[in-house]
Amino acid sequence: MVVKYNPQEIEKKWQQKWAEDRLYEVSEDSAKPKWYALTMFPYTSGDLHIGHWYAMAPSDVHARFKRMQGYNVLHPMGFDAFGLPAENAAISRGIHPFTWTMQNIDNMRRQLRSIGAIYDWSREVVTCLPNYYKWTQWFFLKLYQAGLAYRGRAPVNWCPHCQTVLANEQVVEGGFCERCGAAVSRRDLEQWFFRITKYADELMEHSGIDWPERIKTMQRNWVGKSVGTEISFALDHPGVDEREIRVFTTRPDTIFGVTFMVLAPEHPLVPKLTSPGRKAEVEDYVARSQRQSEIERLSTEKEKDGVFTGAYVVNRLNGEKVPIWIADYVLLSYGTGAVMAVPAHDERDFAFANKYNLPIRVVIAPSEWQGEELEEAYTEPGTMVNSGQFNGLTSQQGIEAVSHFLEEKGYGRRAITYKLRDWLISRQRYWGAPIPIIYCEKCGIVPVPEKDLPVLLPEDAEFRPTGESPLKYHEQFVNTTCPQCSAPAKRETDTMDTFMCSSWYFLRYASPNCDTAAFDPDNVRYWLPVNLYTGGAEHAVMHLLYARFFIKALRDMGLVDFDEPFSRLFNQGIIIAEKQKMSKSRGNVITPDEYISELGADAVRAYLMFVAPWEQGGEWNDSGISGISRWFNRVWNLVLEGYSEGGEVSPAVRQKAERELSRITHQTIRKVTDDLERLRFNTMIAALMEFTNYLTKAKETGYIAEPDWKGAVDTLLLLLAPTAPHLAEELWQRMGHDYSIHNQSWPKWDEELAKDEEITLVVQVNGKLRDRLTVPASITEFEAMKLAYGSQRVMAYLEGKQWIRNIYVPGRLINIVVR
Ligand SMILES: [Zn+2]
Ligand SMILES: [Zn+2]
Repeated sequence: MVVKYNPQEIEKKWQQKWAEDRLYEVSEDSAKPKWYALTMFPYTSGDLHIGHWYAMAPSDVHARFKRMQGYNVLHPMGFDAFGLPAENAAISRGIHPFTWTMQNIDNMRRQLRSIGAIYDWSREVVTCLPNYYKWTQWFFLKLYQAGLAYRGRAPVNWCPHCQTVLANEQVVEGGFCERCGAAVSRRDLEQWFFRITKYADELMEHSGIDWPERIKTMQRNWVGKSVGTEISFALDHPGVDEREIRVFTTRPDTIFGVTFMVLAPEHPLVPKLTSPGRKAEVEDYVARSQRQSEIERLSTEKEKDGVFTGAYVVNRLNGEKVPIWIADYVLLSYGTGAVMAVPAHDERDFAFANKYNLPIRVVIAPSEWQGEELEEAYTEPGTMVNSGQFNGLTSQQGIEAVSHFLEEKGYGRRAITYKLRDWLISRQRYWGAPIPIIYCEKCGIVPVPEKDLPVLLPEDAEFRPTGESPLKYHEQFVNTTCPQCSAPAKRETDTMDTFMCSSWYFLRYASPNCDTAAFDPDNVRYWLPVNLYTGGAEHAVMHLLYARFFIKALRDMGLVDFDEPFSRLFNQGIIIAEKQKMSKSRGNVITPDEYISELGADAVRAYLMFVAPWEQGGEWNDSGISGISRWFNRVWNLVLEGYSEGGEVSPAVRQKAERELSRITHQTIRKVTDDLERLRFNTMIAALMEFTNYLTKAKETGYIAEPDWKGAVDTLLLLLAPTAPHLAEELWQRMGHDYSIHNQSWPKWDEELAKDEEITLVVQVNGKLRDRLTVPASITEFEAMKLAYGSQRVMAYLEGKQWIRNIYVPGRLINIVVR
């Protein structure tokens, strides 16, 4: 009897040994090709759940595979440590955000170590530590110097009862304050922005990077570029200076179909234009819409409603008076905050016109249109009708002709708009990197000199449940002197959006301990860009777009020499339990720690990869992980029980068995390598299981010479090493090999040896030989039939006949019986 497989014991032992030997620490070793494998770093919420493991374990398997392939692999780990939850914990539990965060990091670091990954812990980054956020502040200054950071007014959620700013998370559904239940309104505050819109066009391009199509589409939609025309409608309203309202449209060919205009409720003209009789209704509507988030306002499920202001503009193309409405589906921040409504040719306008009995005039005729009323909006191109001198033009011609006419008359211009807005980075919070800006009465906005960085977060800030940054009430922090004129001055008390911290952490890993710069340029040149970035698809637009913006801005400052931070992106799916997303309230959360202490980290790793294709995700199932555990026990026994050749066998039998062994070994190497390259972990595990089964059978017959069998077992262990690093290391050592299996080269396959054995398959029709096919010995009946029916020679005898049945003798013949 061999000793029992005891994962708890061997996993702890090897993790300790690897750490002592610094096995996975890497240097900028230019002799080897580099591979930068990055997993999105976790937020310091306190506990690693199975979702983290699902992101991290397969990534580690791939990184280990690249390492065995001879790459110098950087696979770092760190913590995204600033943010609102820590501050909320501070308020609700009376614990300082720093203490809360660092305790969570300690626990998470312990959990992360239990994965058995190749993280180079000497490169850990923690974004809330001064040696990190000093450089976050430095990047702010760089962007400011480059004209990419500016101050502007932007709305925040404001509770008039608590007299405070609320984060979006603190506004409960319907637009009420989480604390006091009062209706939340919006209020404009001076805040800081990054000019991400400068890179709008470049951010829509993903050339030269291998990213999932759907993420690229989401980013393009987020940037939302539209090419169209800006059109001026004439305004002549008593007591109003403005002489026009401009709208943006991609369909100037529908201009003659405009039957109303819609302004955003917060459009500055609304109070001026509203007629006295409509004032109460309009003001009520404006107040209601301010309580809704933009997402709620734009929701397609929400019925569109609005209010007439009592005022009109004039459509300059036909001289018609157009009533002005307000509706919350128009946003002030997008386009001009005003839209022309063409109900006949826009679904939303059509519904709105029907609701309020506004005219619907067809100006783009569908083919075969006879002048009848439309049942629904016709949004396709067509022929212009009811459109004066433009009648008869196609939509395409009309777009050109109308735009040209408007430009000539000075009534409009061709224009491009984007949905993307500048990135608002100010947070009225404590737990973030302070914005390094000083306000001086004489000098105005003064950036903190680089030599004075970091602007430290004061530890003794008082946490009051006011919702505003405690920094505002910290006099020692607020009061300072102007770096330019030395007069008394005040510090900015807002902190930076935590997405700022995660926009450059992948640069810091290249030289995490550098204290003279954000990063060592040589190291960044060596490691970057990231070869493979893995994480959840929920980061499609915010984090991934901001990081791309950052790199492009740094490139233009001459600080980096590449265009894109992440060459390849891969999004894993989600692990569910009991057919549902895991959540504490449902009580179906899978905690990895329990399974590790019972079955071992190797089993959890392998099970997560086996459960489903990685990009799809799948359902956690206890019997599934038990199956993996049984497989590992079989591997353990197979390797340690030894091998004995089974008596006298004829040379022919031995030769055949050895040829088969060599073929299956090389086929398995090819399959596992190919699957790992493509991150198809589930089929990779299946191939390793099949190989285990084959070796078990081969051992029972004993036909193969012992050295050959041992060679095949070594291959199994090497192929298993990325997936089950502890088990493979232990067995490798017990087989008498040198430490460490993880420093061995990845096995190579020989295409010639991996080739399927070929046989000749005879094809008969009614028992008469009609063709011979050369096929792989392992061919399935289905594939064989496909080939037989694909043969011209066979087909000639089947024409005009009635099929009766197929007879298949594996490895020998197919007989097609016809009448
Ligand atoms: Zn309140
Ligand atoms: Zn000054």
